[in-house]
Amino acid sequence: MPGDNCSVFGCGTSRRTKGVGIWKLPAPKDEGHRKWRDAWLSEITKTRTVDAVFRKKIQNDTIYTCEKHFHPQDVEIFQSEKMIKKKPRFGALPLLNMPKRSHETNKPVPRPARSVVTTESAKPVKSAFYKTFGDLCKRVPSLKSLNEWNIQTSKDRLVITKMKDNLLLPEKELIVDDSLGFTIKILIVLV
Ligand SMILES: [Zn+2]
Repeated sequence: MPGDNCSVFGCGTSRRTKGVGIWKLPAPKDEGHRKWRDAWLSEITKTRTVDAVFRKKIQNDTIYTCEKHFHPQDVEIFQSEKMIKKKPRFGALPLLNMPKRSHETNKPVPRPARSVVTTESAKPVKSAFYKTFGDLCKRVPSLKSLNEWNIQTSKDRLVITKMKDNLLLPEKELIVDDSLGFTIKILIVLV
């Protein structure tokens, strides 16, 4: 259904997109949550027009925002055996992968003051995160720190195991699925 797509302008995530969390605006259950909801909504409306359809969605509480617009550290992941549930942390706002504001793209700003801004924002950001599952699968086998580990990759999971000497069982096992959720298993031998 069209109403079930991420409300960020130009974003193609739908509620059925596998592995990507998508959430309604926070329920305004108290003052803090009301402020959070307003701030969240205002981030979305900064970069899109608020027409009658959009207003109706606000009324019906069908404004959705997907995980791609949140910093990874702002997303809490709950994992059970079969399911991964993700939730934005209290106060988190959609700030990533947002479209350019229309007035910024339409109206080029005069140049002179810009050089300062550019050097500031052009600073390379070192990120410890892998952006996608494919990225992770490509990089992991070349990591020196995993020399003694077995690495198995398949289409939707990456399994890294360290075998216990003399036992045909993995001592430690890390399983990463294609949504970058992970499970760690540790073998404990009771003597
Ligand atoms: Zn989105």
